[in-house]
Amino acid sequence: KGMRLWNAMIDFWRAEHVEAGYEEISTPVILRRELWERSGHWDNYKENMYFTEIDEQPYAVKPMNCPGGLLVYKSRRRSYRDLPLRMAELGRVHRHEMSGVLHGLFRVRYFTQDDAHIYCTPEQLEDEVLGVVRFMQHIYAAFGFSDVKIELSTRPEKSIGDAAMWERAEGVLTKVLDSETALAYQLNPGDGAFYGPKIDFHIRDVMGRTWQCGTIQVDFAMPERLDISYTGADNEEHRPVMIHRALLGSIERFMGILLEHYGGNLPTWLAPVQALIIPIADRHAEYGHEVAAALAEAGLRVEVDDRPESMGKRIRDGQLQKVPYLLVVGDKEAETREVAVRERGEQKGSVPLADVVAQIATEVRERRLPAKA
Ligand code: ZN
Repeated sequence: KGMRLWNAMIDFWRAEHVEAGYEEISTPVILRRELWERSGHWDNYKENMYFTEIDEQPYAVKPMNCPGGLLVYKSRRRSYRDLPLRMAELGRVHRHEMSGVLHGLFRVRYFTQDDAHIYCTPEQLEDEVLGVVRFMQHIYAAFGFSDVKIELSTRPEKSIGDAAMWERAEGVLTKVLDSETALAYQLNPGDGAFYGPKIDFHIRDVMGRTWQCGTIQVDFAMPERLDISYTGADNEEHRPVMIHRALLGSIERFMGILLEHYGGNLPTWLAPVQALIIPIADRHAEYGHEVAAALAEAGLRVEVDDRPESMGKRIRDGQLQKVPYLLVVGDKEAETREVAVRERGEQKGSVPLADVVAQIATEVRERRLPAKA
């Protein structure tokens, strides 16, 4: 059932990225060590990395997707006409953590980042950052998180790149945050990455805990280190600006946050089983499966519980599984082609089958969120 939730999240993520003009890529999990030396990970991150050897050559398992993504950028000549180039990747990364700190879905050694790298001209930076800020809020709202804390972190003492570049990038990030009305943020002077300033997004869950999920980081270092360029209108080679961004952060951890935030009562569009059909007696099983087929036809995730258990027990089990819709069918329902609806524990009486299919399908399509408990 975890994979059903996973897939529901990813289907949504993919569709939204297509609409937002991203190209999805997939880069290798194992890459030459030399690449990690060039990217700076070897010097700064090797304690958290796993290494291996292939044909007597040293390789590393990726802890981040950026170097692989840069190879995709470099795989062909890029012109200013190609920019902005938005490349998203559900990248599977491995990071070594001490076994004592591993914790459910929240802290694992292998996880999936909903990563993206945007390559643009300095002039496009502002629009791109603004686009990501709005995209981030849209995605969080869809998952039911409206309480988002934003932090802007600026140039740390130890950093690379010249002062003018930093000033320009910090100016752009500040301008974007200031231009979005009603967007409060906190300034963390000197807390940026050594390669550029960043905006972090923290969501607050129902228990009041905050989780840093989203990040937008401007990077001056990586384009330099991996020597990427684009041909300008002047026919000269220029260095693009690179933005690293993640919305959910780790898909695994976000699943954990969602499950705890909703106490398992996921919005119907995310529920692993959206409707459970419970035939009262054996003789109603046939109609029960017909109901299931009608719902499945509408693209819904549905199961039939026709185990030889009492109806009360099967209803209880369905409730414990937090299935949003329990649909009970007996003689009357089979005869009138209706279903007796229990929506999140509330009895709604008998409703024509076609109406129930339309109702649940609409709720899913509109990604409705459950009423606040
Ligand atoms: Zn990156």
